[in-house]
Amino acid sequence: MKAVKVLLVEDDPSIAAVVQRGLGDAGFEVLHVETGAAALAATGYDFVLLDLGLPDTDGLDVCRDIRAKSHVPVIIVTARSDELDRVVGLELGADDYVVKPFGMRELIARIRAVLRRGGGPDPAQASTDITVGDLVINEKMREATLAGETLTLTPKEFDLLAYLAAEPEVVHRRHDILERVWDTEWYGPTKTLDAHVAALRKKLGNQDWIEAVRGVGFRLRAPQA
Ligand code: CA
Repeated sequence: MKAVKVLLVEDDPSIAAVVQRGLGDAGFEVLHVETGAAALAATGYDFVLLDLGLPDTDGLDVCRDIRAKSHVPVIIVTARSDELDRVVGLELGADDYVVKPFGMRELIARIRAVLRRGGGPDPAQASTDITVGDLVINEKMREATLAGETLTLTPKEFDLLAYLAAEPEVVHRRHDILERVWDTEWYGPTKTLDAHVAALRKKLGNQDWIEAVRGVGFRLRAPQA
């Protein structure tokens, strides 16, 4: 499967180096440019990470110009957290935004979430099966199989399973799960999450697939044979 190629538009060399390394470690290919002009001249990428504060032009103009010619997913990276920029950025067609400083895990989770939503011109290129033990998740088809048997999941159960399986062994905080799988603005009771975990465990046929880490959250891993 072809790696997803990310166009990283970032003029700060220290940030660019960290992001480039982090994305590389996560299996992405990175094409780094430092100006809006270079971003608009670039070709052959599947995804754009766009800094708003660029030396030659406003990142929002770059976003609009990219969106005018393609449906490639764009995540805006900004140090400006005021509401106006967020709204304007999203109206210009950005798929999501992250505010500096951000963690690589958060950034990669957001990139995967945007790719999962299929914002790109060819989601098949961005979509790869996730395999954890006998569990295989095809995000493009929104299908999960366990030892070859298709699991019948609700949309939220699928999203939760795919989110946890994208980083097996990693403990995900309840808050992060709720933010990513449900709604970024939803901070309601977490009973819904517990109910979905219980349903998934039942469908996976083994409680050990999803471990509750007390006071923190959940992690997914293949049960020991
Ligand atoms: Ca900048």
